[in-house]
Amino acid sequence: MKRIYMDHSATTPVDSLVVDAMLPYFTDKFGNASSLHSFGQEAAQALEQSRQQVANSIGAKPEEIIFTSGGTESDNLAIKGVAYRNSRKGKHIITSTIEHPAVLSTCAYLEKEGFEVTYVAVDSDGIIDTEELEKSIRDDTILISVMHANNEIGTIQPISDISKFAKERGIYLHTDAVQSLGKIAVNVDELGVDLLSISSHKIHGPKGVGALYVRKGTPLQTLAHGGGHERHMRAGTENISGIVGFAKAVALADERIVDDAKHMRHLRDLLINKVMNSIDNAYLVGHPTKRLPNNVNIRFSFIEGESMLLFLDMKGIAISTGSACSSKSLEPSHVLTAIGLKPEDSHGSLRITLGKDNLQEEIDYVAKALVEIVGHLRAMSPIAGKNPSLR
Ligand SMILES: *Cc1c(COP(=O)(O)O)cnc(C)c1O
Repeated sequence: MKRIYMDHSATTPVDSLVVDAMLPYFTDKFGNASSLHSFGQEAAQALEQSRQQVANSIGAKPEEIIFTSGGTESDNLAIKGVAYRNSRKGKHIITSTIEHPAVLSTCAYLEKEGFEVTYVAVDSDGIIDTEELEKSIRDDTILISVMHANNEIGTIQPISDISKFAKERGIYLHTDAVQSLGKIAVNVDELGVDLLSISSHKIHGPKGVGALYVRKGTPLQTLAHGGGHERHMRAGTENISGIVGFAKAVALADERIVDDAKHMRHLRDLLINKVMNSIDNAYLVGHPTKRLPNNVNIRFSFIEGESMLLFLDMKGIAISTGSACSSKSLEPSHVLTAIGLKPEDSHGSLRITLGKDNLQEEIDYVAKALVEIVGHLRAMSPIAGKNPSLR
């Protein structure tokens, strides 16, 4: 059976050009970047070239890039690093209710450590309430962390607006740009951020590598103690092959972003229109236009997302319900709850996230499968089954 992958917000296949770029660093060029001999120099050179590549891509300077093990570690380092280092100035942090668990769990942990966190609400499209955010700023606020684009519903946040009042009040601004990188423009000066998290495996790079951008002059406390790697901000022998692969993935994304985004946006709108036109009681979740070019999130009344997912999987189609991070629990997604969906409505939601290599014929196949499966499940549903107009 042919398989169709449309779960690119969970992870992406590694590009073959990325694999090619990485391979020598497992074999010939296996050196430790801290060693003084030629093997070490080779590794150190690859490390610094990769740093330059990643920095260029987001409009940063190479010395502002700290390589990490991925988005989760970058979020932890940004939030705990700023919180611990600035706790004498204040212990108040502002974030949103729809952040990735890497941000929300870190904030919850800091609350146990004596920090105070304000979780600013979002509207029914998932856009943060900037007025409420501004009102929640206090004299002891040290950090605002709001994601650039949401991993479940694809909503893009007005980060540069938020940066205006963060700057006025001398508050550090962090954004999680893991989902936006490679899909929409990510530039640290245009966004006006002091810290920005990115991850390799969401942009066709290898898993287990990412970076944190830290604007020059932003005081940060390290979380990993050891050797002096990454300018003393992140100890541990660098993952050279992973970092080289990440930098290659970033370079490819930069080259292709305009064409890829156009292609994905076309497929996204095609799929949304097909589903909306052929299935009753289906609703687009998230903002109609301020959304990632590859994100489709639709909810279907009277049926369970999990059942749809299993039937789609039997047809070789890989997608998600709600969020990949919470899809194994029965709790409704915190993002869908935050935009005001009732539990019974959020349970019927599907997240379909497209990739640059998806084809139009795959969209046709998925749309057809959805019509069939939704019809089938509704026919069995005690609420929907009696009403043929709902199929
Ligand atoms: C995937 C993801 C992360 C976590 O990144 P990892 O590299 O998997 O640790 C963080 N934030 C967002 C928005 C994500 O989508």
